[in-house]
Amino acid sequence: MSNEVVETLRNISTLSDMVEAFRGEDHCRQLLEQMVWANGRACPACGYRISTALAGRDLGRRARPGLYQCSNRVCRFQFTVTTRTPLHSTKLPLRVWLTALWFILQSDKGISSVRLAEAIGVSQPTAWRMGHALRLLLTPEDQLAGIVEIDDFYIGGSPRKNADSPHLGRGRKGQPRTTKTPVLAVVRRPEQTQQAAPAGEARARVVADLSEPEARRVLSEAVDLSAHLMSDEWKSFMSIGQAFAKHDTIRHSERQYARGSIHANSAEAFNDRVRRTITGVFHHISPRHADLYFNEIGFRWSQRVVSGQAVRRTRLGRQVIKLLWSRIAPALQLPAVFKSAVGRQLRRTRDGGITIKCAVAVFG
Ligand SMILES: [Zn+2]
Repeated sequence: MSNEVVETLRNISTLSDMVEAFRGEDHCRQLLEQMVWANGRACPACGYRISTALAGRDLGRRARPGLYQCSNRVCRFQFTVTTRTPLHSTKLPLRVWLTALWFILQSDKGISSVRLAEAIGVSQPTAWRMGHALRLLLTPEDQLAGIVEIDDFYIGGSPRKNADSPHLGRGRKGQPRTTKTPVLAVVRRPEQTQQAAPAGEARARVVADLSEPEARRVLSEAVDLSAHLMSDEWKSFMSIGQAFAKHDTIRHSERQYARGSIHANSAEAFNDRVRRTITGVFHHISPRHADLYFNEIGFRWSQRVVSGQAVRRTRLGRQVIKLLWSRIAPALQLPAVFKSAVGRQLRRTRDGGITIKCAVAVFG
């Protein structure tokens, strides 16, 4: 990515800066090209690194600017910067896309599709799909290593009373204790604590239940085997922990929340943030799309840097040092949003919903 683009993004701090920076369709396209093809333009069909611009050439009708053709002789694929990304065949100007993404990233916990629609002048279903396009762009692919904290929590409200459904059990003998949706959170603890050190990454996934196979499924996808796990003593975690390089646990049952550096406080803080975001912004998210929302919340979590330290006293009078965080400016988060866009595609369904055609980036 050129320094010019970084400079442009760095200069965006206010709303009017953003409007000024995202002026003109050509300008926005060039910004997007620099972010999507940060390592140079690559063909989205075959990954070939050489292609030619067709703009201005007479191909029967004049080719539009931003149209390229792969120079690989067996491929010859014609593409633009949005081809095979979540913005594939969009009818909206790229200026509207960049504005919308800036709006979403600028808000502290996210923005509902209703408010986004009002702010940028599109319909609510369109705004909803734009939000999901962003969340798809933010799907993590690499595995977390280092010190990784895991924790489980539930989302959703208490169930409606229903005379036809049996009473909930107490969580024993296979009876469900709740009808809420269980979620597993995985958070990488920040490695460094000095000024400008980045926050760890955070992931969360909806699970069918808090059983061992489900925990194994999520952890094998999200955590590298070299990781040092920290968790409470939930029994599913206990047996899975053996697969990883190291596993330490704390005993919540004995009201123990930290033993020196052994704790899952980052994961618990992330859980809190997820719950507050859902309650405050989205009110209700369907378990089917919850993982997409978690991508966004996890991305926000990672887009922070240490801005200082403060000495605080605990209720028991002990001194603790708390890290203070500040977030990376929303415009400067955009390159990270687009860094592995190619290959990830959303499709509209007939009923106006979305399906994810592919969530894995190719030719990044
Ligand atoms: Zn090609």
